[in-house]
Amino acid sequence: MSREKPFDWIRGYQVGGKSIMWARQTQRWSDFDFEGPARDGFAVDWPIRYKDLAPWYSYVEKFVGISGNRDGLPNLPDGEFLPALDLTCVENYFKETVAKKYKDRHVIYGRCATSRNQRHCTCSRAGGSVRRGHCASAAVRSGATTIPIPPPSPGPNARVI
Ligand SMILES: Cc1cc2nc3c(=O)[nH]c(=O)nc-3n(C[C@H](O)[C@H](O)[C@H](O)COP(=O)(O)OP(=O)(O)OC[C@H]3O[C@@H](n4cnc5c(N)ncnc54)[C@H](O)[C@@H]3O)c2cc1C
Repeated sequence: MSREKPFDWIRGYQVGGKSIMWARQTQRWSDFDFEGPARDGFAVDWPIRYKDLAPWYSYVEKFVGISGNRDGLPNLPDGEFLPALDLTCVENYFKETVAKKYKDRHVIYGRCATSRNQRHCTCSRAGGSVRRGHCASAAVRSGATTIPIPPPSPGPNARVI
């Protein structure tokens, strides 16, 4: 790091964990990724392939609630998705423009742990505001969705061990 090119590496060490601040992007890896080192001849080959993880991706997607479309792209496998949120009109315009110009490039809704499904979000606002996680239960985070809420306690529930 230098004064000319400062680089701040800010890490999330906060109580509650990094799912408080994660971007909720949850794309599956494909064999294109797992075979990368072998194909390109660098680093160490992965000891597993997509088929080994696929059932576990399904398990987690159903448990967490991942929204997305079944886009049929071989390098971005489809999963067990809840309905995707709508693209904004600007995003749709961009998608259509890219589709007109390129046959091999695809603009899709990113598979995401934010949902308008009633499991996580019961409010009526859809689209961008849900996508940004305005609703506490629409944005999946460990403390709100996956870790059971502890019983009331007179003191702090967390302590350093
Ligand atoms: C800005 C940001 C964006 C991200 N976006 C994405 C994304 O889009 N998609 C994706 O897949 N991943 C993303 N990640 C990564 C993802 O959030 C983390 O990999 C994941 O949340 C890690 O979970 P964890 O339970 O392993 O660790 P953590 O969430 O870090 O949990 C560790 C917990 O242990 C506690 N702890 C630490 N030390 C002690 C101690 N001594 N005593 C008691 N408690 C302690 C911490 O306070 C914390 O609550 C992102 C991360 C960040 C920071």
